[in-house]
Amino acid sequence: MSSPVPVIRSDAHLAHRGLVELAAGREIPCWESPERVTVIEDALRAAPGFAFEAPTEHGRGPILAVHDADMVEVVEHAWTDALAAGAADGSRPLIPDTYLIGAYPGAMQLGELPAGRHLQLGAYLFDTATPIVAGTWGAARAAVDVALTAAERVVAGAALAYGLCRPPGHHAARGMLGGYCYFNNAAIVAEWLRREGGAQRVAILDIDYHHGNGTQQLFWERGDVLYLSLHADPARAYPYFSGYASEVGAGEGHGRTRNWPLSARTGLDGYATSLAEALRDVEAFAPDAPLIISAGFDTFEHDPIGDLALRTDDYAEIGRLIASLGASAIVLQEGGYAVDALGANALALLTGMRGS
Ligand SMILES: [Zn+2]
Repeated sequence: MSSPVPVIRSDAHLAHRGLVELAAGREIPCWESPERVTVIEDALRAAPGFAFEAPTEHGRGPILAVHDADMVEVVEHAWTDALAAGAADGSRPLIPDTYLIGAYPGAMQLGELPAGRHLQLGAYLFDTATPIVAGTWGAARAAVDVALTAAERVVAGAALAYGLCRPPGHHAARGMLGGYCYFNNAAIVAEWLRREGGAQRVAILDIDYHHGNGTQQLFWERGDVLYLSLHADPARAYPYFSGYASEVGAGEGHGRTRNWPLSARTGLDGYATSLAEALRDVEAFAPDAPLIISAGFDTFEHDPIGDLALRTDDYAEIGRLIASLGASAIVLQEGGYAVDALGANALALLTGMRGS
């Protein structure tokens, strides 16, 4: 009997509930809800072979190794600044009405921002799906601690650990929030493995339905971190502006980014073909640290915001294919919005990865 798989989880995310997001001009309930990880935890608790643990605190250092300090401050203070200014009554999430996009300055040399961090929010966000509420800062901090604690368990000898992160992270870039993401949990773990774990080469495999634009941006010019992503073709799917096959990194990072844009209704056969290519890239890179998996289940056939066609059993096969590398792995929760199926899908992936 192999050792139980550590599952790192925290209740801090329960206080992060965004209420609404905009889709095609309509206000809809947030897909990214606390129930997503609650159902996964319930499913794993009902199955044998998992050991549940609270995260240990790692402070701000690992976050500031990846993200700009001013962006981190906005996440921390936007809510309380809005309340103090009377700009919010606490009943609704903060969603900016103004965004500082790249075309704003033109030739102007602009450097000033309003003092209220709630008014700065639009300078750090790229979409309307990433609301800030009273519990956002605590949840985002805890998700980072969950990810780092999972990494510690694998560095200490576990073959596999699962960080039940919420909010997810792979859309968050160095100085930008978005896509339900505040801090990039996977990137923070990769940087931590480099700085604290003594690793020279770290690989991140992103199997979420969406392109992990944040992770790609963070390691774009880095030769020491491999970023591989299988996702819906951005020609039709969020985040639209990145994730094309032509994006391969630059400078020392040239060839260290690779993207596999997938057609609508891609099932296991097509998925496994792209995954096999990605796994060969991992082998060729020869990481000397545990493999980091950005695991999203929005690739599921019935996901309400996805259009791929993976079934629950397919996640077990994907897990087996990844495990065939023989590498230890840190699995970090990203997306997945078919709440009723998330528990079975996560259990299938982990079962495939641990080989039983
Ligand atoms: Zn996703």
